Amino acid sequence: MTATTRFAPSPTGRLHVGNLRTALHNWLLAKHHGGRFLLRIDDTDAERSREEFVDAIRHDLAWLGIVPDGEERQSARFDLYEREFARLAEQGRVYRCYETPQELELKRKVQLGRGLPPIYDRAALSLTEADHAAKAAAGDKPHWRFLLDRETPVEWVDGIRGPQHFDPAQMSDPVIRRADGSWLYMLPSVIDDIDMGITDVLRGEDHVSNTATQMQMFGALGSSPPRFAHEALLVGSEGKLSKRLGSLGIDTLREAGIEPHALVALLARLGTSDPVDASLDAGALAAGFDLSHFGRAPARFDEEELHRLNAAVVHAMSFSQAAACLPEGMDEAAWLAIRPNLAHVGEAADWWQVVTGPVDAPDFDDETRAFLAQAGEALASLAWSGEVWRDLVAVLKETSGRKGKDLFQPLRQALTGRDHGPEMAALLPLIGRDQALVRLESAVRAIQ
Ligand code: GLU
Repeated sequence: MTATTRFAPSPTGRLHVGNLRTALHNWLLAKHHGGRFLLRIDDTDAERSREEFVDAIRHDLAWLGIVPDGEERQSARFDLYEREFARLAEQGRVYRCYETPQELELKRKVQLGRGLPPIYDRAALSLTEADHAAKAAAGDKPHWRFLLDRETPVEWVDGIRGPQHFDPAQMSDPVIRRADGSWLYMLPSVIDDIDMGITDVLRGEDHVSNTATQMQMFGALGSSPPRFAHEALLVGSEGKLSKRLGSLGIDTLREAGIEPHALVALLARLGTSDPVDASLDAGALAAGFDLSHFGRAPARFDEEELHRLNAAVVHAMSFSQAAACLPEGMDEAAWLAIRPNLAHVGEAADWWQVVTGPVDAPDFDDETRAFLAQAGEALASLAWSGEVWRDLVAVLKETSGRKGKDLFQPLRQALTGRDHGPEMAALLPLIGRDQALVRLESAVRAIQ
C-alpha cells in the first residue's frame, strides 16, 4: 500500500500548534507508507490570502523538518475547477440560488420554530428558466449549491472514529460558489484530492460534517473517495480550547527556546496511546505512526510537558548539533559539562559566563573565609588534572573536618558565584587553575 497525503492550510494567518500537528501527522502517515506528502495552499479567497503567510507556512514546516514532496496552489487551478463545475452542471448536480443571508436566516428561524432541521428548503430548484432570466435582467447574480442525493446514505469507515453514518435528508445542499464566481472551500478541495491522487485525508474532527457532504462530490465527479480520518481537536492542559493555544505558533515557541525536535516528538504522539519519547527521530516516529492508536478524547497540549521534553532533547544534544547556538569559545568539554543543567540551549551563555568570569561571590563569614583560604592553598599544591575536584575535596575533608553542604556550598559559591549549577567536577577543569585560585583569593579578601 502506498499513500499520498496533503496538508491544506489557507494562508490567512500563521499556523498554530493544532495545524502543525495535523501537518506533522499527514507527513508521518505518508512516510510510514513510503508515500508522498503534499502542501496544498488553499488560497481561493484572494481577499484574505496573503503571500507573507504562504512563506510563513513554508518556513514553519521547514523548521519542524517537514519537507513536502510537492506544493500546489489552488489559485493556479481555477481552470480545472471551472471544467469540473461544468461537468456537474451538465449532470444537474449544481443549481442556482438567489436568497440573501437575511432570507436564509429567516427560513432557518421558521424551521427551528416548527421543530424542523434547519436545512436549505431547495426553493431555488423550482425556479424556471424564465425566472432565472428575470433575475438576470434585474441584475441578480446567482450563487451555486451542490445538489445532494437525499436517497443515498453517506457512510465511511473513519480511520480514527470508526464507522460513520449520515442521513443526507438532514443535510443542507452546500453553497459551493459565490455570486461573484469565487469558490468556497468544499468543491475545489474534492477536485484537488481527486486530481492529486490523495489516498488519505487526515484532518481535524471539525471537518467531519464537511466530509459527509464531500463524500457525494467524489461520487458525482466519478471518483471513489480517499480514506478519511478525523482526529480529536487539541485542547490546553486545562482541558479547554484556549485562546492561547489557538494562536500559539512556532515564533513564540522558538523564542522560548523550544527545539523543533521536542515539538515534533510531542505533537507526533499527542492524541495517541503511544508514549511521548524525545529520543525518537522522525524516521522512528514515522515507522511507529498508526491511526488505530488515536483516541477520540480531545488531545491535551501541555506546555509544561513540552518544556520537560525540550530539556531532555537538550540534554541529549551533541556539541555539533548545539554549536551554532553556543557562545564564542565554548568547546565540547564545556558543552558536555553544562548541558545537563539547561532547559534550553540559550542558557548555555549564562553558564559559559560563569566559566570565563568574572563572577560575584557572596560575602562569607570569617570561618568560611578561613576555609576558603585553606581551599586555595590546597588547590595551589595539587596536581592539575581532570580529577582535581575530587582531589581537592578529599584534602579539604581531612584538613577542615567539613563535609556535605558545609564543604561544597562555599566552594561552589566562591568558584562560580552561584548556589547551584553543573557538576563542580566538570566545571573546575573548565574554569582552570589560575582563575580558580583568583576566585578563591578574592572570596577570602572580600570584606577584609
Ligand atoms: N483549507 C482547509 C482548512 O484549512 C482544508 C481542510 C482540509 O484538510 O480539507 O480547513
